[in-house]
Amino acid sequence: MQIPAPFEYARATSLDDAIALLTRYGDDALVVAGGHSLLPMMKLRLARPDWLIDINELHELDYVRRHGDELRIGALARHRTLLESAEIAALFPIMTEAERVVADPIVRNRGTIGGSLCQADPAEDLSTVCAVLGAQAVIRSATGERVIGMDEFHQGPYETAVEFNEILVEVRIPIRPRSSSSYEKVERRVGDWAVAAAGGSVTLAADGTIEDAAIGVTAVGLSGRVTDAEAVLIGHRPTDALITEAGRMTSAAVDPMTDQRGSVEYKRHLAGELTQRVLKRAIARARRQEA
Ligand SMILES: Cc1cc2nc3c(=O)[nH]c(=O)nc-3n(C[C@H](O)[C@H](O)[C@H](O)COP(=O)(O)OP(=O)(O)OC[C@H]3O[C@@H](n4cnc5c(N)ncnc54)[C@H](O)[C@@H]3O)c2cc1C
Repeated sequence: MQIPAPFEYARATSLDDAIALLTRYGDDALVVAGGHSLLPMMKLRLARPDWLIDINELHELDYVRRHGDELRIGALARHRTLLESAEIAALFPIMTEAERVVADPIVRNRGTIGGSLCQADPAEDLSTVCAVLGAQAVIRSATGERVIGMDEFHQGPYETAVEFNEILVEVRIPIRPRSSSSYEKVERRVGDWAVAAAGGSVTLAADGTIEDAAIGVTAVGLSGRVTDAEAVLIGHRPTDALITEAGRMTSAAVDPMTDQRGSVEYKRHLAGELTQRVLKRAIARARRQEA
């Protein structure tokens, strides 16, 4: 049986308390939210914190709320909350579609958006969603707050810009008119991590051309956005040929590995095919918003 190395446990009673605990214990401490990624890492001894700072009592970080032209999501919002949010489904169907295929109900009941983004697993779905939506991360420490984009937040597999004495407190997603989005994942069985997945978002101009586009892929060796494929879309009418080209470019840009989930060739094919599908759905949805 795998058991974690010994550790001390502290339950934070407020955000200030959590930050004070992190500041006191330095890099010997880790925050625990849903625990669905951290506890398996501790059991495998890939993570060995001396202190676990439990933030589950910080209900002030568990929300989804509109603020002007942004949707703000607290770091402790559970996957289930995001999946069931009618506001998210209307504004960002990419997130609802991703949440439907994140793990299983048990994991979704406890796992949080903050834990997902901070874990930064290359096969994690919400990182792609947040990158595609142009989200910003709000990070708090004892000295104040900073707000950074997802390109700065994610620094590589399992690495983020969150320092040992900081907490991710909120994710802010801009709400844009005539925009919509979609996500599609191929998994070996229900609840599994992605073999490959893609997310896309499109904003249409008043004349029907593509004003802005974002493409992101999951589990295929490329973090962040596929900017070259995005660039071929912007300023043009969305035709089948254009979308095929964006899919081809995405397929060429990814850098997957052969593993038990599939070969390099298969994952490349999926990245291109899924990109085309999500772009088509995002465009159709953005058009319906115009009507
Ligand atoms: C069986 C299984 C299948 C899964 N399948 C999928 C899947 O298909 N797709 C997918 O995307 N995910 C999947 N997951 C991961 C799941 O989504 C987790 O919930 C998520 O990765 C971590 O969220 P958490 O709240 O449990 O984080 P935790 O495990 O509590 O924390 C993860 C890391 O983030 C840090 N952290 C947590 N919150 C904060 C914060 N607010 N500020 C700073 N640091 C913080 C912790 O210190 C830790 O290092 C799966 C997990 C399991 C167990």
